[in-house]
Amino acid sequence: MVVDVVRMLSALLLTLGLVLIDTAVPSALSPHTDAPSHHVRDGFRNVAPDYAYPLIGRALRTLRLGFEHAPARGRTPAVLTNDGAELRANGMVPTLTWIGHSTFLLQIDSVNILTDPHWGDRASPVMFTGPRRLVPPGMRFEDLPPIHAVIISHDHYDHLDEATVRRLNAAYHPTFFVPLGIKAWLAKVGITNVVELDWWETREFRGLTLVCTPAQHSSGRGLLDQNRRLWSSWVVRGRDRRLFFAGDTGYYDAFKEIGERLGPFDVAFIPIGGYSAYERHPNHVNPEEAVQIFEDLGARLMVPMHFGTFDLNREPFREPPDRLMREALRRGLEESVALLSPGQTIHW
Ligand code: ZN
Ligand code: ZN
Repeated sequence: MVVDVVRMLSALLLTLGLVLIDTAVPSALSPHTDAPSHHVRDGFRNVAPDYAYPLIGRALRTLRLGFEHAPARGRTPAVLTNDGAELRANGMVPTLTWIGHSTFLLQIDSVNILTDPHWGDRASPVMFTGPRRLVPPGMRFEDLPPIHAVIISHDHYDHLDEATVRRLNAAYHPTFFVPLGIKAWLAKVGITNVVELDWWETREFRGLTLVCTPAQHSSGRGLLDQNRRLWSSWVVRGRDRRLFFAGDTGYYDAFKEIGERLGPFDVAFIPIGGYSAYERHPNHVNPEEAVQIFEDLGARLMVPMHFGTFDLNREPFREPPDRLMREALRRGLEESVALLSPGQTIHW
């Protein structure tokens, strides 16, 4: 009984915390003169003219989420065990492996890259409560090939896991590519090999070109750092391959421009989960919007992500991939979608 009350109270507190942590507060501040339109005095904002994220509706929806248990939302994806042996032996073959959620291992031009690496048991500021991992990582951390670069899209707990980035830094000392503001956060946990970029800025790395590109989202890890650090998508260009990683985003018109300026892309990693009960979530896309992003980008192959891994959001676990495949079929794009299992590797 006491345990139940404690559990309920901690769930309530955490839920309230997450409402604030994950809430985009559209800033009333206007941008500095001369500064890009997504910059405000103490942070960043979304730029679509019709962008809005009402706090009350979101709080009510999220509060309900705190009391919904994972089993009621059905089966999670099955893991394809990957011992990493082929990837560690690989030279030039471009591969990609879905580890789970937004974590991918990319191999391109003999460079090994991780996106939003997360090997933790929870996507939460604390170890005893918060969204649990429901599906183990598709590959053990110990089985990874040497990691040269890490790409971070934003600072939310399901994308930037402190224990994982510390472990990567200790094991491989990779270069971290991050949007504005995350360099200082990484410095606090002892990580200094960091390239920090604003939207549309570019950096060469081991023969690749990495470009920080826009997204519509939010940031923050506590109550006092809301939207202080930038969120972004990323482009990786190799000798003859181009890849787009959407990070976490709502649907807006930036993706056409990204495709025109930096495409055509061979592969696009696009989130399909996190819309919960929203018809149109301002900061996440539903599967139909994800397909629209894929079309806007003009990419060749879509690989969905950001679903079925953590006990986050409200949609049933099978819903995002089922809706994605229905929409792809409706548009005659089913051959262009690679719906992977955690642990699965494909060549691209
Ligand atoms: Zn996020
Ligand atoms: Zn996320």
